Amino acid sequence: MTLILFVYGACLGSFLVAMADRYVTGESPFFPPSHCATCSTRLVPWQMVPILSYLVLRGRCAYCQANIMPTTLFVEGVTAILLTTWTPTFTLPLLWLSLWTFAALCDTQTQTFPGWLSWAALGISLISQPWSIILLATSLFGLIRWLWPHWIHPWIGDGDLEMMLGYWLLFGSLSLVHWVLLACGLALLTVRAHVKFAFLPYLMASALAWWLWP
Ligand SMILES: [Zn+2]
Repeated sequence: MTLILFVYGACLGSFLVAMADRYVTGESPFFPPSHCATCSTRLVPWQMVPILSYLVLRGRCAYCQANIMPTTLFVEGVTAILLTTWTPTFTLPLLWLSLWTFAALCDTQTQTFPGWLSWAALGISLISQPWSIILLATSLFGLIRWLWPHWIHPWIGDGDLEMMLGYWLLFGSLSLVHWVLLACGLALLTVRAHVKFAFLPYLMASALAWWLWP
């Protein structure tokens, strides 16, 4: 069972990386078929096997020798391990983590991600919540959505706050604090001062670390 989940997880990671690449280049999710980002040569099935293809190709395109982003292998590996933790009760948190992994991949390259994603992730985190929490969370979400276009130089992205709201709903206040602290620590260690940077990848790295740690 663990092996099957690992394989599914690797496929999920491969899918998320491909969809994020297509979001960045503005291509349709369905067309054209999988191809090298540099030489546009269409890939054959053995070049599309998650994790294994990257290792066999040693991180290079078989045709033009262009580098394939190491992030691809990293994300496929992490989502593979992530999905091995699946049990029916973890379905919603894992779905939520997958959605935000996709957002973080888009954010890394463009500092944006598809707007529908926040709504979908909020919906997932609100399933089986009491009405009072649903009312509070949707009000906060609406406030973020209304306020951010009016804030000229925001010091944090609206997507980051929306992710924090979802994390709080799914995992509670104490976990939220641990999670944000680790993300800030990681960012402080790696980001130069006074530059605008994508924070979602740090939030995501922290979320995955807290999820996998136990
Ligand atoms: Zn190529």
